[in-house]
Amino acid sequence: MTPANASSTPRPVAAVRLDGGRLCLDFVNTIHDRYAADVEDYVQDPQRFIAWSERTGALRPDDGVCVPRTAHKRAALMREVVALREDLHALFAARIDGLVPRASAVRGLDRWLHEAWASQSLGTDGYMHWRADARDAQLSLKRIALDALDLLANPAASRLRRCANTTSCGWLFLDVSKNGRRRWCAMETCGTAEKMQRYRRA
Ligand SMILES: [Zn+2]
Repeated sequence: MTPANASSTPRPVAAVRLDGGRLCLDFVNTIHDRYAADVEDYVQDPQRFIAWSERTGALRPDDGVCVPRTAHKRAALMREVVALREDLHALFAARIDGLVPRASAVRGLDRWLHEAWASQSLGTDGYMHWRADARDAQLSLKRIALDALDLLANPAASRLRRCANTTSCGWLFLDVSKNGRRRWCAMETCGTAEKMQRYRRA
């Protein structure tokens, strides 16, 4: 994979890979690469987080969400983004490894689930709707939390995988291949890098 370099021009949000197969996994994969010494954070500021959220559907055009106005709120949002991302990574990694997740990660997701439920009201149409006062940048984190719950509670979670490139990548994905033996976040990135290494060793 191309080396991540914090000093280089950030890649456009439109060019960020979405290989996880689920919103919540793509969110966890906004670190490139998770185990690299020089990490590129795709959603390192509120503008990028909102652009990424719009691209992935975590925010929708009719949500009308803008970047928080005050520096205090922007900083708080970014702390929440990083915290939920790490909590979700811990929860999914524990599921993959068959371990009990750390309690703080469970609490972290639990808090966002309750925030998400409290932000919705039942409409006369019988559907839950986001309340008008919930249409802020945190709405993205609430949708991500609900998606994470849906995945963790689903038998499909047995198809959760970690990219076989564990020296740097560390991305997570849902293996929907027929034989359930997908190894890489993407063949054209980590899969190719591994093939090149084998070629050089030969
Ligand atoms: Zn990978």
